[in-house]
Amino acid sequence: MHKLFFKKKFDQHFLKDHNIAKKIVNHLSFKNYNTVVEVGPGLGILTQYLLINPCNHIFLIEIDEELISFLKKNFSISKNRIIHRDFLKWNPEEMKLKNFAIIGNFPYNISSQILFHILKYNQYIPECIGMFQKEVAKRITSHKGKKTYGILSVLVQTFYDVKYLFTVKEKVFFPTPNVQSAVISLKRKNETVYCNKNMLFQCVKVAFNQRRKKLKNSLQLFNHISNFNRIPFLDKRAEELSVKEFLQLTKEIEIRK
Ligand code: SAH
Repeated sequence: MHKLFFKKKFDQHFLKDHNIAKKIVNHLSFKNYNTVVEVGPGLGILTQYLLINPCNHIFLIEIDEELISFLKKNFSISKNRIIHRDFLKWNPEEMKLKNFAIIGNFPYNISSQILFHILKYNQYIPECIGMFQKEVAKRITSHKGKKTYGILSVLVQTFYDVKYLFTVKEKVFFPTPNVQSAVISLKRKNETVYCNKNMLFQCVKVAFNQRRKKLKNSLQLFNHISNFNRIPFLDKRAEELSVKEFLQLTKEIEIRK
């Protein structure tokens, strides 16, 4: 059956192992939300465990039309909650969704974009449990001073507390991917993060694009702002700055604009 559905262009790797599916769903806390949006449900292995959990509303967002028909036929979820859409073009505001968790065994070819999309709507998303390729999961959960520390680590950890949950071997998928996978959790920070998101994104990206340079050189883009030289951390390199320090740096640049 999996063979019938498999489409390479959508980076489909269907999970076969029900224990792992159960384990992923069980990591949802169901705290302070009653809606879960599943991204890329595929043949619904996670969906079936979502359905036996205590959330009131489940929405599925799947790009593959053939899988949409399969899901509508096989799952007792109202048809207008099985949405045929590219997640990257999905806007929760259109559906008036204001507080929901995200779950998914994500398509790996767009994992960074998925994360950026979640960050765009973070005010509505208190929690996310997701499977990524292991290398990306490591980058998201990395800390300063590590080789894997970079743009994804800083941007995701500014808004979410992240946790590497467990590694998943290639052989539990069909077709078998070339890389190992890992499940991570994102829980939105309790305190509200006040910062200009655009500025933060720009600053982190520019800094890590030349990660070995001192910030005063890599951030030359911001040279025109007043008192540039008095901004803290300029003698450090991107990889030496903690998530909090990046936030502070962004605020310092912002107030001098
Ligand atoms: N969750 C399923 C399938 C994982 S494979 C399982 O664990 O078995 C990734 C899934 O994401 C596929 O169903 C694929 O069709 C879907 N997908 C790929 N790109 C997508 C996109 N841009 N938006 C929504 N779904 C997408």
